[in-house]
Amino acid sequence: MADQVYLDYNASAPLCDEAKQAMLAAMDVAGNPSSVHASGRAARKIVDHARRTIADLVGGDSERIVFTSGGTEANNLALNGLEDVTVFTSAVEHPSVIEARPDAKRIPVDANGVTDLAALEAMLKDASDAGQKVLVSVMLANNETGVIQPVAKVGLLAREYGAKVHCDAVQALGRLPVDMGRLLVDMVSISAHKIGGPKGVGALAIAPGVMLVPQIRGGGQEKYRRGGTENVIGIAGFEAAAKRSEANMAKMADVAKLRDRLETELASEAPELLIAGKGTERLVNTSCLILPGMPGETQVMALDLAGVAISSGSACSSGKVRESHVLKEMGVDEPGSAIRVSLGLESTNEDVDTFVRVWSRMRGNAARKKARHAA
Ligand code: PLP
Repeated sequence: MADQVYLDYNASAPLCDEAKQAMLAAMDVAGNPSSVHASGRAARKIVDHARRTIADLVGGDSERIVFTSGGTEANNLALNGLEDVTVFTSAVEHPSVIEARPDAKRIPVDANGVTDLAALEAMLKDASDAGQKVLVSVMLANNETGVIQPVAKVGLLAREYGAKVHCDAVQALGRLPVDMGRLLVDMVSISAHKIGGPKGVGALAIAPGVMLVPQIRGGGQEKYRRGGTENVIGIAGFEAAAKRSEANMAKMADVAKLRDRLETELASEAPELLIAGKGTERLVNTSCLILPGMPGETQVMALDLAGVAISSGSACSSGKVRESHVLKEMGVDEPGSAIRVSLGLESTNEDVDTFVRVWSRMRGNAARKKARHAA
């Protein structure tokens, strides 16, 4: 990232050295973790050790950590793994939740993007009266806005009505405490590449008593919950990143200062700027900035040309521009004019200075161009 200012940590964080080293070491292990010989046992040891570390990180049980190919697969397993359930998801979930269950009922959110608990309670009551089994899926922190959801309150309500709860904690991990017991949830999805681990590996942590039907079959790995030889190298990197994640959480206060300065400077520069979710608790690294009249994609391209990496909307796969359902659900007038700036542990004051300078120049140029056209 030598010459680039990287402010897209919610898309992916840089691989940390610890993960790199752990992965290099795991590359020398030839065995398949399912093989009984010494080399297989060495691979199994890596996977099982990581399982314990990751269980500890989320307050789970190592017997109930299912390694997956990432957050997307973990979410798909959670949403489709329970039999005969009616699914409720918040209206602002990641596409890997929304699209995993197109039949799900949506829990509305308020103008800050926070789940409407009264609406959820009414939905739970109706379902309970109709004798339905329910799974509620509410994320801990939103990937686009950073808005933090009242997951423990969702958990409490769900318990009252005998419903199960899944929480997508992909963006929260390493930034907020993620503890299944405190959150009162039955399943939690996490992903390595958001915490400095490799891309393409994640996990679903499940509570005792939750029986999942595998979505990938064959081989019987992961206690028959997810077939396929485990990604031993990726899992080794995931564990190394997970180990530093608790210590890193303490450093989030520094990230908060950078993010807050960025927002203050932009707001004084551009009074028309809107910050999504500003009226509620957000991840301290995330800013969703709406500059009316200027498409997010145009902003992303202008910033990229100036060497600054950010995202527009949810940017789930590059090149594909989708208007943000999250901002639409929040009632934002121009969801297409949003960009997401997300900082991380390696972000610096200079990164913020460069961003503010480049963004202000871009806004000024656009305003002058508009004035010339109008003249
Ligand atoms: N859930 C959330 C909230 C995310 O932000 C993401 C990725 O951006 C995912 C799930 C998907 O995770 P992965 O990229 O590991 O598939």
